[in-house]
Amino acid sequence: MLSFNNIKKSYTTGDVTVAALKGVSANIRKGETVALCGPSGSGKSTLLNICGLLDDQYEGDIWLNNSPIPKNKNDLTQIRREKLGFIFQRYNLIPVMSVLENIEYPLLMLDMNKRQRMDQVIEIAHKVGLKDHISKRPDQLSGGQQQRVAIARALVKRPEIVIADEPTANLDTSTANMVIDLMRDLGNDMGSTFIVATHDHRMTDRCHRVLDLADGMLQEVQPQLDTRKAS
Ligand code: ADP
Ligand code: ADP
Repeated sequence: MLSFNNIKKSYTTGDVTVAALKGVSANIRKGETVALCGPSGSGKSTLLNICGLLDDQYEGDIWLNNSPIPKNKNDLTQIRREKLGFIFQRYNLIPVMSVLENIEYPLLMLDMNKRQRMDQVIEIAHKVGLKDHISKRPDQLSGGQQQRVAIARALVKRPEIVIADEPTANLDTSTANMVIDLMRDLGNDMGSTFIVATHDHRMTDRCHRVLDLADGMLQEVQPQLDTRKAS
């Protein structure tokens, strides 16, 4: 459903050119949860920005549902608004807005009336277990609850692809496990594909696939299903 074909990207600063991605190819299937791993400087952010349609300066091409992704900003913004959701390490919730308003926010850019928006907001708030907290502000919630709001906000428009950048980095183990299970279950349930940059073994252990970046090149590794942790 999402394919990259020989993606290359370099950054040039003055006389120095750094090849951040040196020809990355992958096919990601609908509903998969894919972990993107690799040491600092290996190209994770660069690839995540390209997958997230935030960057149009690269070589190679990306196909979404058998259509090539265009490389101009207006088309990318349109596709991003309709088909992508984002989850960040630091939640990025809007502090002056309620949980309900935070979750509704991405829908304001789509052609939907208030009633349609509220139906989708309430449905996803229920799925992430926040139904009783929708009128609170983010600072009245725990870290795990805030990340659940962020997940609800990313999923409320039923995106085809969810891009997550270190979503469990700030969470303790039980909260992280809950967030991971939630992402996996909702992804399966709604058919959303998750691409998750992470160093967190709790996360990679539970992903369908692990893509490992090293020095701008991609390697696929089988998830190490650790039976001790799973029990
Ligand atoms: P990661 O997210 O895995 O740490 P990045 O994608 O941020 O990796 O970086 C890959 C390589 O590209 C690194 O060598 C980094 O220094 C370089 N790089 C990233 N962003 C820029 C930039 N804006 N300008 C110049 N070099 C960059
Ligand atoms: P707006 O311009 O109204 O903020 P966009 O269409 O630019 O909305 O953004 C759509 C989605 O992309 C949003 O969910 C936003 O969080 C995310 N996004 C936009 N810019 C960036 C960025 N530089 N880094 C990460 N995510 C971004």
